[in-house]
Amino acid sequence: MPGYELFGAEERKEVNDVLETGIMMRYGFDGPRKGIWKAKELEQAICDKLDVKYTQLTSSGTTALSTAMAALGIGAGDEIIMPTFTFVASFESVFSVGATPVLVDVDDTLTLDPKAVEAAITPQTKAVMPVHMCGSMADLDALKAICDKHQLILLEDACQSFGGSYKGKALGTIGHAGTFSFDFVKTITCAEGGAIVTNDQDVYVKSDAYADHGHDHLGVDRGADQHPFMGYNYRISELHAAVGLAQIRKLDNILSILRNNKKIMKDALATVSEVTFRRLPDEAGDSATHLSFFLPDENTARAAAAAMKAAGLAAFFWFDNNWHYIRQWDHFKQNASLHAFPPGLKQAMEQYKTKQFPASDAIIGRCISTPVNLGWNQDEVKEKAEKLVKAVKSVL
Ligand SMILES: *Cc1c(COP(=O)(O)O)cnc(C)c1O
Repeated sequence: MPGYELFGAEERKEVNDVLETGIMMRYGFDGPRKGIWKAKELEQAICDKLDVKYTQLTSSGTTALSTAMAALGIGAGDEIIMPTFTFVASFESVFSVGATPVLVDVDDTLTLDPKAVEAAITPQTKAVMPVHMCGSMADLDALKAICDKHQLILLEDACQSFGGSYKGKALGTIGHAGTFSFDFVKTITCAEGGAIVTNDQDVYVKSDAYADHGHDHLGVDRGADQHPFMGYNYRISELHAAVGLAQIRKLDNILSILRNNKKIMKDALATVSEVTFRRLPDEAGDSATHLSFFLPDENTARAAAAAMKAAGLAAFFWFDNNWHYIRQWDHFKQNASLHAFPPGLKQAMEQYKTKQFPASDAIIGRCISTPVNLGWNQDEVKEKAEKLVKAVKSVL
């Protein structure tokens, strides 16, 4: 999964360009920066790579989500429908704009079940946010049809799936906006960083200002900028953007290694008749960062994950994890926040103390994901695949 495995001379060169001028901020200092604009260059590279009109970089995937929501006009009183299986950041960012997350079941795509989405729509629903987990995608045609029918915003949390696509279009570019994370364990990394992509100029212009204290960036210099509305400092630095620039140039190579390695592991595991695989709405668009599969029941899955770990393989049994699946999110269930949630939100959250998600449990309770690495040579991949099959068979 992580681009950090391919960190090298290219990243150092880009960072050095910045260190030589000493201008580490992405805005202003036009003279001394000597034509070095790494953040701008990376934004353009993302637009070109994903075939999308606008990209706004931010300091993280979390701030990209907050910024996108603000720019899309999502705020207090609005409900955002999102999956029970996600990363806490997706949930937290909804709070950051004062909106209410409405969790609904996932299906065997490991993200939003379209039927559950439709059932959860209320007059307060403003947006649907699929989370393209573990490198692969939601059933976007079905979700888009629901959003179009009910006039809802489709916001793709594609933080884990940079480089993936759906029916020929880059993930993140199919909804009204999409977000990416370039934190240290994502497909490509800036150390810390994020991006919003959109084809909507209004969303872009608002994102650009919101992530920089509301600066419109139209002044002859920073001091002459206007501030049409309030924002925050969610800026990326030039140093971080420089790393990302070297990384995005490696993306095609990263994806081809991941896809090759994943295929070897998946083909091996497919020989075990009790194992089934995550449904991929467009297999060709899988960014292949993880291999996700199902065992017949929860106990077998938990045991298989333990056997994999004992064999030296990475295994995520999400059902027991307190970052990714609602079951163990006690801090959210207790409304454990440093600042008071808006009163309406607190009330809306009460339901999660007791609310059960049997349909999600039936999926996540049987699911294991194992990350695909870039650094393995062909012998190592085969060895991992053999160990995987052996570990899984040992509990059946
Ligand atoms: C990583 C991630 C985020 C947040 O990204 P950061 O850059 O770590 O803030 C949001 N959503 C999902 C699904 C993620 O995996």
